Amino acid sequence: MESATPVIVAIDGPAGTGKSSTSKAVAAQLGLSYLDTGAQYRAITWWMVNNGIDIDDPAAIAAAAGKPEIVSGTDPQAPAISVDGVDVAGPIRTQEVSSKVSAVSAVPEVRARITELQRSIAASAANGIVVEGRDIGTTVLPDAHLKIFLTASPEARAARRSGELKGADVHSTREALIKRDAADSSRKTSPLAKADDAVEVDTTELTLAQVIECVVTLVEEKRAGK
Ligand code: C5P
Repeated sequence: MESATPVIVAIDGPAGTGKSSTSKAVAAQLGLSYLDTGAQYRAITWWMVNNGIDIDDPAAIAAAAGKPEIVSGTDPQAPAISVDGVDVAGPIRTQEVSSKVSAVSAVPEVRARITELQRSIAASAANGIVVEGRDIGTTVLPDAHLKIFLTASPEARAARRSGELKGADVHSTREALIKRDAADSSRKTSPLAKADDAVEVDTTELTLAQVIECVVTLVEEKRAGK
C-alpha cells in the first residue's frame, strides 16, 4: 500500500493478551486513531443493566439494542466512551459488566448495531486507525491492511488481568477469563476468531514493549509496501 493511504490495523484476541495496551501505544506512536470495540460492547451492556433489561432474555436485549446512543472517542492518549451523554469509562469496567457482556454481545441485533458504528468510525479516521476487538479482522473490517491476532497462555493472561484489577485473586480471574473466552468463541454471530490472513503473535514470553515494537514494525513494513 502507498503511505498516503490511511492505514487500517485490526488487533484481535482474547482478554489479557495485552491488546488494549498494545493498540493504544501503537496508535499513539504512529499518529493513528484508536478504537476500543470491547468498550462499546461494555457500554451497551452497562445501559441494559441500568435500564432493567433482563440479560438472560435475548429478545428483550434485541428489542432495546437500538436505544442507547454510544459515542467513542478515538484519541489513543485519552480514550473516551459515553452512553446518552454520560461518561461511562469507569462503570463499564466493573465485574458486573464483565460477567454480563458476553451474553449481550452474542445478540445479533447488538452486533449489527455496534458493527455499523465501528465501520463508520474507521471510515472517517483520516490518518488511519488501530481497531481492537474480537471480530475486527474476520467481520468488521475484513479489508484491513494489517491484521494481528494476539494470544497468551491462560496463566499469563490471568496474571496480567489480576495485576490490572489491583491484586484480584489470580485463580478466580483465570476462571472468569476462560468462561468469557469460551462464550465469545462459541457464539453463532461473529465469534472470537483469528482471520486466515492475520499475523499471530504469542505474547506469553514477551514484555509489553516487545509486543508494541513488533506491531509497530509490522505496520511500518505494510506502509512501506513490503
Ligand atoms: O475487550 P474487552 O475484554 O473489554 O471486551 C469485552 C467483551 O466485549 C468481550 O468479552 C466480548 O464479549 C465483547 N466483544 C465482542 N466483539 C468485539 C470486542 C468485544 O464481542 N469486537
